[in-house]
Amino acid sequence: MNTFLSAAQKTLQEQYVKFVDEVIAPVAAELDKVEGSSCQKEIMSKLGQNGYLGITVAKDLGGQGGTLLDAALFVEALGAQAAGLALAVSSHYSVVELISRFGSETQKSRYLPLLARGECFGAQAFSEEKAGSDLSLIETIAEVNGAEVKLTGVKTWVVSADLPVLLAVLGKNGEEKGVWLLDGADRSSVELSARKGTMGFRSARLFDVNLKAAKASADNQLKGADALALASCALDVSKTLLAACALGLCQEGLSLAAQRANTREQFGAPIAKNQGVQWKLADFSTDAAAARLLTYRAAWSRDGAPAEFRKFAAMAKSYAARTARLHSGEAVQIFGMLGASCDEPLERIYRDAKLTEIFEGTSELQKVILKEELGV
Ligand SMILES: Cc1cc2nc3c(=O)[nH]c(=O)nc-3n(C[C@H](O)[C@H](O)[C@H](O)COP(=O)(O)OP(=O)(O)OC[C@H]3O[C@@H](n4cnc5c(N)ncnc54)[C@H](O)[C@@H]3O)c2cc1C
Repeated sequence: MNTFLSAAQKTLQEQYVKFVDEVIAPVAAELDKVEGSSCQKEIMSKLGQNGYLGITVAKDLGGQGGTLLDAALFVEALGAQAAGLALAVSSHYSVVELISRFGSETQKSRYLPLLARGECFGAQAFSEEKAGSDLSLIETIAEVNGAEVKLTGVKTWVVSADLPVLLAVLGKNGEEKGVWLLDGADRSSVELSARKGTMGFRSARLFDVNLKAAKASADNQLKGADALALASCALDVSKTLLAACALGLCQEGLSLAAQRANTREQFGAPIAKNQGVQWKLADFSTDAAAARLLTYRAAWSRDGAPAEFRKFAAMAKSYAARTARLHSGEAVQIFGMLGASCDEPLERIYRDAKLTEIFEGTSELQKVILKEELGV
């Protein structure tokens, strides 16, 4: 399967899997607690200390100078054990992308080293109660007054918002939309909701963020294409990484289901001897392999074929998410009642897999993108 990964990428992949096996897997169940876990923040810092938050940041700015495919390999490994952390990392890299592509030299040198070291996390503050799939409906006001901008509005479902965070805030100044970088300097005018519980991705820290005339420097606005196009570029990165997270869920779910099928005996033989069970595993393995090809292709096209990135990111996200949700459900079926037990990891994988179809643009919205790419 790794045929088109370079030797260097295979080495990175091994290093990532080893880190996740040693550091994340032992606390995977703890991280999945609905109320959150005390070790979450510590693990997020370890990601920074090990360079895993600077994979795509240029070397001269303190990063690894790697590609989006390198980052996808990391998120794939992470997603298998802690999908919520994989979501936080994906969102972080989408902000790295925004600054790397659209930031001024000052913004790059101010923020990218901090992001690469994990001294602050990048997070999208795009969604609002009335603006989910349709971000053109945002109501957050950006009041620009000379060298200062004040941001007022409520952003929903913001990941990592209680950590030292750099928010990419989608707002509007009159009719004109923009993306502003809001760092922690003016915390007093940023109010967080209680941490939000979700059916899956519980190792993410999710909050609604109430911006009460939160101050940023007016030159913290990202320049470039129009604001919705900027948000879309950020989402192309985070959705490719979320597709990689879905691959991790698939890999773990498939391996657990195959193991169980070989060892669980009913009617005098392992259940794996039944063709009905074998076919579920065969379909899972085929679709997961196809999802991996699409995801790596999407990640590669970020640099290798930029004109195709948006299309492949949409294909990868919707296909990998569907594969994870559909086949992790079949894996639960193979496990029988044990698959529904909260003491078994498969139940977590199934809950996580469902959510991959929703954030960073729902699966339906990916199809809207794909029909646009077809000129329909
Ligand atoms: C775990 C999690 C983490 C998140 N993290 C962040 C974050 O860090 N930052 C952030 O800004 N947001 C975040 N979000 C929000 C996420 O991006 C939105 O939930 C997502 O974009 C969908 O918006 P919505 O939930 O409002 O659904 P809606 O937009 O209300 O959609 C509801 C349903 O209608 C369908 N639909 C809508 N329009 C169409 C259409 N044109 N054609 C076909 N079907 C359509 C959708 O596919 C969906 O099934 C997160 C969400 C979750 C669940």
